[in-house]
Amino acid sequence: MKALVYHGPGKKAWEEKPRPAIQEETDAIVRIAETTICGTDLHIMKGDVPTVTDGRTLGHEGVGIIEKAGKSVMNFKKGDRVLISCITSCGKCEPCKKGMYSHCENGGWMLGNTIDGTQAEFVRIPYADTSLYHAPEKVSDDALCMLSDIFPTGFECGVLNGRIKPGDVVAIVGSGPIGLASLLTSKFYSPSEIVMIDVDDGRLEAAKELGATRTINSSDGNAADRVMELTDGKGVDVAIEAVGIPATFDICQSIIAVGGHIANIGVFGQSVDLHMENLWSRNITLTTRLVDTVTTSMLLKSVEAGTLHPERLVTHHFPLSDIQKAYDTFSRAKEEKALKVVLENK
Ligand SMILES: [Zn+2]
Ligand SMILES: [Zn+2]
Repeated sequence: MKALVYHGPGKKAWEEKPRPAIQEETDAIVRIAETTICGTDLHIMKGDVPTVTDGRTLGHEGVGIIEKAGKSVMNFKKGDRVLISCITSCGKCEPCKKGMYSHCENGGWMLGNTIDGTQAEFVRIPYADTSLYHAPEKVSDDALCMLSDIFPTGFECGVLNGRIKPGDVVAIVGSGPIGLASLLTSKFYSPSEIVMIDVDDGRLEAAKELGATRTINSSDGNAADRVMELTDGKGVDVAIEAVGIPATFDICQSIIAVGGHIANIGVFGQSVDLHMENLWSRNITLTTRLVDTVTTSMLLKSVEAGTLHPERLVTHHFPLSDIQKAYDTFSRAKEEKALKVVLENK
């Protein structure tokens, strides 16, 4: 079979690899129908993720058809259409029993990280019973692919941890796919304002189309002042950090209202200054989280019911064999106006 294989920073190849086989009776082999590229994959390509070693097939998102199920797999059989969770979970360890599947002692983020991933014709999924979901018939591959990672991430780490309530003023710092997934799922709770902040006008335009009530381009460094003006000096009830750099975290802590929640999603590679001299008395909370994918079933139901349209984030389609071209497009997201780029194995 063909797979996109990592060969060290800046090096990847679409090459022939042996088809994965069942290793444990709890595994399933899935034939990929559609997969996508994540911002994390670009970090891997820069060499920022040392757990990914030479020879690894990339990718942790996707939808496909069960090719083979191990003997102890109870919930899935050959031919079932499945959504692959970016988080592999055994369902039996202590973190799993607390619902923190991202910290599963036998799983967590493995696909395209410590084991071969989904940017291939076939993938081996460990603990298939607890790491796969039956795909509802009428939900498209595009929509499903968005539920592997970005929608549970935006919803759990941003919206749920931010405890958005009806009438809240919400700011989302970062209008990339994850920020936009937070935007779409924040609407479940009817906030009165959703302010999107980013440095890219194209992405802010996309945010407006998806329901942002206001957008602010932060490239002049005055985004926090603008938010405070918009809110009569009160700030926002919920600030969602969806970038992961000191400047964007700083916006969040500068605009948070008394009693507000700062919900972090961003992957930070460096430390930030936490301004406790301003925040100590303001009754705020600050949360961090790795996506647990505990809301995948709920999100699937919302998509099936037509109340959530994750496929709206898909801007580009490529055949799986053109994945190198797709990476190139995704890495030049601004010029290409790319949000999510999907690869079809049809
Ligand atoms: Zn991802
Ligand atoms: Zn576990």
